[in-house]
Parts: sequence; C-alpha cells; structure tokens
Amino acid sequence: MSINQHIKPVTTEERENLTIGGCDLTELAKRYGTPLYVIDEATLRGICKEYRQAFKEYKNIKMMYACKALCTSAVIKILDEEGFGFDTVSAGEIYTVFKSGVDMSKVLFNGSNKSAREIELALEYKVGRFSVDNFYEAEMLHRLAGEKGITADILLRITPGIECHTHDYIQTGQTDSKFGFDLSQLDEIISLIRSKYKNLNLKGLHAHIGSQIFEQKSYYDEVGILACQIESIRKKYGIQLEEMNIGGGLGVKYTESDTPPSVEELAKAVTEAMHKYAIEIPTIYLEPGRSIISPAGVTLYTAGSSKRVPNGRKYVALDGGMADNPRPSMYQAQYTAQVVNRLKSKDFETVTLAGRYCESGDILINDINLPKIEAGDIICIYNTGAYNYSMASNYNRVEKPAMVLVNNSQSDIIVYRETLDNLIMYDVIPDRLKK
Ligand SMILES: *Cc1c(COP(=O)(O)O)cnc(C)c1O
Repeated sequence: MSINQHIKPVTTEERENLTIGGCDLTELAKRYGTPLYVIDEATLRGICKEYRQAFKEYKNIKMMYACKALCTSAVIKILDEEGFGFDTVSAGEIYTVFKSGVDMSKVLFNGSNKSAREIELALEYKVGRFSVDNFYEAEMLHRLAGEKGITADILLRITPGIECHTHDYIQTGQTDSKFGFDLSQLDEIISLIRSKYKNLNLKGLHAHIGSQIFEQKSYYDEVGILACQIESIRKKYGIQLEEMNIGGGLGVKYTESDTPPSVEELAKAVTEAMHKYAIEIPTIYLEPGRSIISPAGVTLYTAGSSKRVPNGRKYVALDGGMADNPRPSMYQAQYTAQVVNRLKSKDFETVTLAGRYCESGDILINDINLPKIEAGDIICIYNTGAYNYSMASNYNRVEKPAMVLVNNSQSDIIVYRETLDNLIMYDVIPDRLKK
C-alpha cells in the first residue's frame, strides 16, 4: 500500500497511548497546547521515496512539490533534501522557498493572475520556470524580462479538456476553466512567442487536471493530450518541446470510503501513456501537493462544551474548527478522528464534532461514532497536512495554531502559535481618533 492510501501517518501506534513518530499525542497536546498541527517526518519522507521509486524506470522525471498544500520553511527544507523542486503560486511562497535555501532553478512560478511585482520578484530570484497562463501575462512577462535583459524559460499552461471529479472524470472538448490556454488558443500564443515575445523561451507544456483524483486513467488521458499537442507543435512549427508538466492531484484517503490509486499505479498510467504515444519528451514534471503532505499531518484538539439537541444530535465542541481547517465548511470534506486518551473505551456514541467559530456551518465531522467524550479529552483528526494550515484564517480573531514536527520520539516546533499581540500588530488607530 502506498502512503497516500493510509488514513493515518505510518508511524501511528496504539499501545498504552496513541503515538505518532514515537511521540505520545496527549503529551504533545499538554506541552504545546491545542489546537496543534503535528507533522510526521517519516510519513513525509516515506511518500517522497515512493514517488522516486515508482518513477525510477522513467529517468527524466522531476518532482515538484506544490507548495500551496503546506508551505512552511521546515517542510520545504525536508522536501529539498528529498530532491523535490517547488511549484509556487505567489511572492510569499517564492520567498519562503528562497529563504529555506533552495536552488531557485528548481522552482516553477505558476498562477492565473501573477502581479507585475510578483513576476519581478520571481525574475530577481531567478526561478527556473514560469508557467504562462494567459495572453495578458505572456506580454507582461516578456516586457519585464526584457527590462532586466533576460529571457524567461516558460511552459504554457493549457486546459487539456479533461474534467476530473473525485470518482469519475469527464473528457470534454472544451473545459470551462479559469486556468490556462484553451487548446484552440495555442496557435495564437505560439505565434506571438515566435514573432514578438523574444524574451520568452518556450520549453514545454503544463497542465493540471484537478485535485483528489481517484482515477489513474485520467492521467493516461492527460499525458495523451499533452503528447498530441507537443507532436502537433513539432509538425507545425518545427519546435521540439522538451518538457511536459502533468501537474498534481493524486488523491488521499480521508475516510475508509476513499480509494485513491497508489503512487505506483499513477506511475504506471504515466509511463504506459508515454510508451503508447512514443514521442520524444526528455523531461516530465510532476507536481503533487496533497498526496505528499496530507497523510503526514494530523490536528489535535481539546473537547469542550457539548450539547444534545432534544431527540436529536449530540454536538461536541472542539477548540478549533473552520479557521484552522476550512475544508469541511468549504466543500463538505470528510475526515476520520480518534479520541487520543480513550483507546480502551468500550462506551461509544455517535456525535458531531463542531468547531468553535461563530458560524453554523463550522462542523468538522458529522455523525461519527467515537468513545464517549468528556471535556478535556484530546481528539486527533487525521490527514490534515494539506490545505489546512495553508488555508487557515484568523476568523473570530483566534490565533493560528502551532505546528510541530515529530520524528524518532522527538518533537520540534516548526511554526509558533500566534499570540494575541500578533493579532493586533498590523492594526493602526489614526491619530485623529486618539483624541
Ligand atoms: C494545486 C495544484 C497542484 C497540486 O495539487 P494536489 O491536488 O495538491 O496534488 C499541482 N499543480 C497545479 C498547477 C496546481 O494548481
């Protein structure tokens, strides 16, 4: 089984206590407070190794971690050590990667509305690739690169005409998407690059078919579409593109009913498609985000108040919720939880784990069967490594949680818990209000 097919971090052990990375979760909660994000280093490094091994037959493969899943300096550092490059989408992500000591030639700058300031920063930091998303950006990047007297190596982001949903995918002629060039616009942009945009050096094509993908066949189709486009560009213009970036999207197992393919199955779909289309593409880029970091992360919460609706649900309120994990309220995401300090309990009941935020939709898990919870119990929600901290907010003016890295029974803070002073540090009261 691949790590993305596990609900829990690979080092999770249930003996007397529940431990991850050899660290007792009750102890972590006591020492660092809750809510607390916990990242298991062995799980993170384990999935990196799986990606490397699954694709080792295809030697010109480059792994780029999609930073938007979780972008903190320590995580970047580990992925850099594991040989990954980085897919970034903002000045903030580029800056974090740069400050973590990464060789910036391994960085790609992607996004559908990059600002001039962000493009200038990316040019100054010498990011290796720009994924050019639209006509407006192509002109701007050409101009800004020209001002600095450099040529930017680019990929063209295309909408391949496959729409992926969690369990199935639809192949469409056109996809109504805000990202990338429609296939019918490729000729026009390539002509512009050849005739006018001399500061752009076209290296390849880029696509991303969606997220939390459960069908490896969609990758097979995607590679096919990209291969056909590359071949037709070679025939029409005599340009041999060297790179194909197939994006990320491999799914993870949030609950028992999720059945993502393994990394090996993904690799098989990609290599089979490459053999079938047999075109010369020296380098394939992969950009996994969720599957790399989600299974490595859990969030610890402390239970507080509870309420039983007469003849209805029982709600147990946790000390976090939609501000540290917006996924359930944003897209009905499902999660698996465990009561850390009641491993031996036989007394179960069905409860709804509610968040602490002032919003009815702030529910973390609906109707889950758990040991009877009392105030002060520690709840662990699994698979929160991706798109939790990275999407966190200060809604209700609550401090964002701390994050610790666990490994070999050691725990280290990698993100400090915010303080009340952090929350007001950007506030200004104009002098005229101070009278
Ligand atoms: C979001 C995104 C990814 C990562 O997707 P995951 O589902 O987290 O693997 C990769 N590439 C692009 C272009 C993206 O927008």
